[in-house]
Amino acid sequence: MILIIARVVRMKKTHKLVSAFITLTVLASCSSSNDSTSTNESTTSTSTNSAVAELPVIAVTYSVLGDIVSQLVGDNATVSVVIPDGQDPHEFQPSAKDIETINNAAFVVSNGLEFEEGLEEVLENIADSGGNIFMVGDHITVRKIEDGDEHSDEHDDENEGDHHHGGGDPHLWLSPATMLEMLPALTTALSEATGADLSAEATDLTTKLQVLDGEVESIIKSLDECKLVSGHDEMGYFADRYGCEVIGVIIPSFTTTSEATAGELAELKKLVEQNKVPAIFTGLGVSPDTANQLAKELGVEAVTLSTHYLNDAANYQGFILNLTNQIAEALG
Ligand SMILES: [Zn+2]
Repeated sequence: MILIIARVVRMKKTHKLVSAFITLTVLASCSSSNDSTSTNESTTSTSTNSAVAELPVIAVTYSVLGDIVSQLVGDNATVSVVIPDGQDPHEFQPSAKDIETINNAAFVVSNGLEFEEGLEEVLENIADSGGNIFMVGDHITVRKIEDGDEHSDEHDDENEGDHHHGGGDPHLWLSPATMLEMLPALTTALSEATGADLSAEATDLTTKLQVLDGEVESIIKSLDECKLVSGHDEMGYFADRYGCEVIGVIIPSFTTTSEATAGELAELKKLVEQNKVPAIFTGLGVSPDTANQLAKELGVEAVTLSTHYLNDAANYQGFILNLTNQIAEALG
């Protein structure tokens, strides 16, 4: 017989106000009809055949990753993004409520490469206590640079006070290929966290990211050359994947919490002139005055990119395409 279960999903008071919604789940069952087996007594229902359940909350540190998680879990979980769009994830300091959101979540997804510096302590505490956390950096080929030379993945804690973090380049979301690399592990983790079979969603998302990867590749290939100057050292995964060359950065660091010295800016100007790049890119953490002054002195355009949050993009795919098209337009 067919048993129709109405699941009324209500949000906890501690979460942002979200409209309650009802999903109808149609289950084919050979057993006789029983009353709801739900043990959640805080929820209500008018039907004797209604099972009432609250969706698990997945806390994700920033919006770009949050959208990937949302596409993967579909209707099987509520995704709560901790760092609001518009705020610099490198510098974000959590409120007590943000920490509560993370600690109360059924599962946490974070970057894991010292990206969310202000959340580092709370995330490490969860990881150290064997909690439910997925750090993307543990499931990808981490990009490392030291003194301008790329090298492999030995961890080097000696450089903590240096411009580059020993943990490697955290800007892993800027290559769809890197997102594809970690997707199987994330799917397994989120399937376990939600108790749902996410294989259909994972297949769908994999196809979308593969298509996106191809689109970005063909847009960049249409350029004569792709020489990038970026706000901070953020375009490495993108450049490595699509054949661009990062010739210099305004803030020579994997994070926006550093500043360029006068000497470093002078060196950058030399590189831009030698390479005859038609535009420099800027953004998060770079003062507009510095970027505009640099562009003016060089006689090139300064283009602001949104690289660390979705901004107005509808989803991850739109975010990456916006970024790629802006680069292509400026360099084309
Ligand atoms: Zn960054």
